[in-house]
Amino acid sequence: MTLKKYTFGMGDRFAHQGQAQLTAILKARDAGLSVHPVWNKSNREHMLVKTRPEDLRAEADAAVAALGWKDAYYVDADHIGLKTVDGFIRSSDFFTVDVADFVGHPASPESVEAFVSSMSPYLGALSIPGIADPFQLTADSVRAVAGKFLLAVQEAGKIYRRILDRKEGRPFATECSVDETDKPQTPVDLFLILAMIAAEHIPAETIAPKFTGRFNKGVDYVGDLAQFEREFEQDLCVIAFAVKEFGLPGSLKLSVHSGSDKFSLYGIINRLIKKHGAGLHVKTAGTTWLEEVIGLAEAGGEGLEIAKEIYAAAVSRFAELTAPYAPVIDIDPARLPASAVVETWDSAAFVAALRHDQKNPAYNLHFRQLIHVSFKVAAEMGSRYTDALKAHEAIIARNVTANLFERHIMPIFG
Ligand SMILES: [Zn+2]
Repeated sequence: MTLKKYTFGMGDRFAHQGQAQLTAILKARDAGLSVHPVWNKSNREHMLVKTRPEDLRAEADAAVAALGWKDAYYVDADHIGLKTVDGFIRSSDFFTVDVADFVGHPASPESVEAFVSSMSPYLGALSIPGIADPFQLTADSVRAVAGKFLLAVQEAGKIYRRILDRKEGRPFATECSVDETDKPQTPVDLFLILAMIAAEHIPAETIAPKFTGRFNKGVDYVGDLAQFEREFEQDLCVIAFAVKEFGLPGSLKLSVHSGSDKFSLYGIINRLIKKHGAGLHVKTAGTTWLEEVIGLAEAGGEGLEIAKEIYAAAVSRFAELTAPYAPVIDIDPARLPASAVVETWDSAAFVAALRHDQKNPAYNLHFRQLIHVSFKVAAEMGSRYTDALKAHEAIIARNVTANLFERHIMPIFG
C-alpha cells in the first residue's frame, strides 16, 4: 500500500459529517489540489461515543458512494496498541500504531548495544543533505536515545506484525506515532527512531513525532515559530535521508497530530513541504465536532438550547471532562463565561465565542477548548443530540465543510 502524497485525516465523533467532510476534499480538488481523505477514530473515541470501528468504515464508504469519490481514501485505526488493534483489522486500512506509553522504558541491554553498534557508520559528524550543521553522534548519545525509544519501536514492530498476520495479504498503511509523550523529539531523535523502525522491518509510511511547542486541542499553536520552522524543515530532511539510508518506503512522510486549528503553523508547513517536495499527513478530529456545536447554535431554537446545555454541563463537570486531556489543553477557568451569562446569549453571541476566528474579539479560546473536550456530554444526550444533527444538517454541513476547506486544507496544502 502506498499512501498518496497529501492525506488529510478527519475525525467525526458522531458519524454524521462524512459527506460534509468529503465535500471539503472535493472543493480542494475543484481548486486543483490533490488531497486524499482519511477518516480516523481512536479506540478511546469509539468507547466514549459508543461506536464501533465498522461504523467508521460504513460512514466513509457511504460518503464516498454518495458523492462519487473515485480516488483513494483510507480508514485509520487511530492510536491503537496491541490490546486494541484486533477490533480494527477488518474495517481499517490505515493503522496509527501508538507506542508512546513505552517511551522512556528501557529495552534489553543486548538490543540497545546491538542498535548502538548498528549505528557505528553514523557516529561522529553526520551530514544530512539540507541541514547546515552536521549532527554530532556518539555511542553514548545513540545509547541515550535508544534507552528512550527502542522498546517503544520494538512494541511497534509487534503491533505491525500482528496486523500483517491478521490482514492475510490485504494491503494497509502503517503510521508510527510517538506524539503523546511529554517531551518533543528532536530531528536527531527522529533520525534514530527511523533507524529503529527500519530495523524492525516496519514499512512505515507516516511518522508522527511530538513537535516542539503546544498543540492544544482545537486552538492555535503556542510556541516558538522560528524553532518550529527549523525543526520541521530538519525533520523533512531527516526523513528524505532515512528513506535512502535505511530502505524505508519512499512514501514516508511526516504526520501532524492535533493538526487542526494550528493556523499560525500552516504557512510554515505549506512553504516547507513545497520547498522539499515532501508529502504530508495532517490529522484533525475534534474541530468537526466543534462545527456541529456551532451549526446547532447558529440554527437557534432547540439547536441553540442544546449548545448551551453542553456548555453548562461542561462547566459543572469541568474536572471530570478536562482530566483525560490535561496535557493537551490550557484552559483558564477565570476566562470562562458563567453558564448563566451564556444562557442569555443569542445565536450570534454563542457562535462568535466558539468559532475559530482570531480576528473576532468575542472569540474565546478557553470556551472553545472546554467544549472541545465535552463531546461526552453530547454522547450522553443520545438521540436528542443526533436528531438535532439531522434536523439542522444543512447549516451544520456548511460549517463543517467551510472549516476544513477554507481554514485547513487550502492554507496547509494549497
Ligand atoms: Zn496523536
